[in-house]
Amino acid sequence: MYIRNWPLYCQTITLSKGIKKMPLLCHTISVMNCALYIHIPFCVRKCLYCDFISVPFTEEMARGYIRALCIELTLRQDLATPLDTVYIGGGTPSLLGTTLLFGLFNCISDTCIISSQAEITVEANPGTVDSNTLGVLLSRGVNRLSIGVQSFQDNELKTLGRIHTADEAVHAIAAVTSSGFSNISLDLMYGIPCQSMSSWKDSLSKAVRSAPAHISAYELTPEKNTPLYGLLSSGRLDLLDEDLIIDMYHYAIDFLGAHGYGHYEVSNFALPGQACRHNLNYWNRGEYAGVGAGAHSFIDSSRFYNTGDVTEYVAELSGGRLTKTQEKTLTPGEAIEEYIFLGLRKTIGICLSDPLLSKVDITAASRNLARQGYLKIDGDYLHLTRQGMLVSNMVIIKLLQALNL
Ligand code: SF4
Repeated sequence: MYIRNWPLYCQTITLSKGIKKMPLLCHTISVMNCALYIHIPFCVRKCLYCDFISVPFTEEMARGYIRALCIELTLRQDLATPLDTVYIGGGTPSLLGTTLLFGLFNCISDTCIISSQAEITVEANPGTVDSNTLGVLLSRGVNRLSIGVQSFQDNELKTLGRIHTADEAVHAIAAVTSSGFSNISLDLMYGIPCQSMSSWKDSLSKAVRSAPAHISAYELTPEKNTPLYGLLSSGRLDLLDEDLIIDMYHYAIDFLGAHGYGHYEVSNFALPGQACRHNLNYWNRGEYAGVGAGAHSFIDSSRFYNTGDVTEYVAELSGGRLTKTQEKTLTPGEAIEEYIFLGLRKTIGICLSDPLLSKVDITAASRNLARQGYLKIDGDYLHLTRQGMLVSNMVIIKLLQALNL
């Protein structure tokens, strides 16, 4: 490990390994962990439910953006440290094409030190992966691909405004697998208007049949200011019945569990040892640097983010100026709140003997919610029950209120 030479901002955090087999004590392995997120804000077109920072792809804009990213990577002092995880997300990074991807990876290797065991993930969407792109990713050390499948049903993909069909998703997975990637994650969605229990079961079966290492199953949340929200509020589409959505979630946990996928976070499932290290770092409150439009960073107890305006981002960086905004150093109370609401997303929960919790009586604060079946203490951990996971936001808010920080 690089412990001696790591700068101070890279605090020691606990990284859970082999979550299911861990004894229920705070016997986690202490490792130094630094993560880099790079945002690529380009898509073919906007999906109807999307409120992420993304704009339509043009070659010229993407070229300017990659140049700006390289400048940011050069200017950011906080990257001169071995990175344990790199995550290139979006947007649709797989849209960049081989030349821009090469350029991006050259900048990363010129400016960052990446640990030899690093997890390096790139997000890809069906319809945008070809053998040339996959070849570049493999040759530059990418060892994990996260594919936004969302559904294996054409009518659901259409309702979501996705650019691909179910067949194209199947072909994309086959192409990724045959190109040599062994660590693949698939994103699926439930709660899609027009989805049925049987179509959800079919999508889960097809996902499992392609044997990915990891599956994310997200409930569709209609965000304001999206076309989907407009369609729902004007009555042109109907939300699914809440009980059906709950049944879909229960089914996913049981079905994926029966096929060897451990439920390690509210929406995430993995084969043993294949949990996403980059995302676990967020939920463990590890530090990370975010680069690109709208990217967030958490360094040295301070949170800040870049402008989400892609044009402004490119203009500022082209002039050699970082767009860091709204830097906020967390108070001790805010740090505890974060530890709780991020940590409780993990099925293992939060470690009660963590020094951060030494000044609060979390056992007493959680008593009522535990009595109601939403929280449970196992050994030295407090975690959400399955019932609690269904209403995790409400449970966490009530727990924080009881703590009165
Ligand atoms: S592919 Fe992802 S980022 Fe792009 S528009 Fe669709 S949901 Fe948004």
